Amino acid sequence: MLKLSGSIIGDYFSCKLRFIFSQIKKIEPERKVDLATAFGGAIHKTIEIFYKAKIWEKCLEKGNAKPLTDIWRGVYLSHLANEKVDLRNPDIYDPKSFHSIDAGWPVLQNFYSVQNEMGWLKEPQLVEDRFEVAYNEKVTLRGTIDLAIDDYIIDFKTHRQVIPLEKLRNNFQCVLYPWAFEKKFGRPAKTIFFIFLRYGKQVSVPNSFMSESRIQEVVSEIQEFVDNPKEEPNTGSCYYCGYINVCKFFNNNKKRSSGIRFYDE
Ligand code: SF4
Repeated sequence: MLKLSGSIIGDYFSCKLRFIFSQIKKIEPERKVDLATAFGGAIHKTIEIFYKAKIWEKCLEKGNAKPLTDIWRGVYLSHLANEKVDLRNPDIYDPKSFHSIDAGWPVLQNFYSVQNEMGWLKEPQLVEDRFEVAYNEKVTLRGTIDLAIDDYIIDFKTHRQVIPLEKLRNNFQCVLYPWAFEKKFGRPAKTIFFIFLRYGKQVSVPNSFMSESRIQEVVSEIQEFVDNPKEEPNTGSCYYCGYINVCKFFNNNKKRSSGIRFYDE
């Protein structure tokens, strides 16, 4: 059974070799959690607690984000410890660092402002919802929907840049998440919103871009590739790759990718 997620499909389009290592040869990647990844993970964890522990009700009562920002420091430090990030890393405590404790407060303030403005301080339909659904007899599709409220799918990004719609619509999440939503609720999602929390900006991808035929095309292409794989190395950055120790094509290009993988790259 082939299990495909947005990031595995991203691997397929960005580096066939990485896809071969993980999905065909089934080699476990070396797990790398840098501070940027851990920071993003901790922000997602805080948002999950915000909804599951109903902190949003306290924010509504007070009319501000303080009940949310109050939990950040503890959530971040315990997330770093769980991810085995060295807590002596000075970037954690340096207010000028992009991934410090201090850097989290404006991100969460932006989160609160967007949720408040959109009327999303309320009981959600889904929070950090992991799905794994059979697509056909040989393939399952899986992923995690950050949040769904009022039939809107909401995905949070902590990237350094806002990705424009024309680029974002080629992110496989835009078809995968609405597909999973419809399987679960029996009706289509209205829109998928990507919220860029560093800037408090949102980009919405209209329903018309959520084409299920794109899933069919991608799944068929990948199934054919699995039957007849060709070792084509990455042409971009190997920065996030967990296979640098086993890959003869590793390129030492230190440039990071945006962290979002697209299927037109
Ligand atoms: S090290 Fe680079 S070329 Fe090799 S699998 Fe990873 S991303 Fe691909």
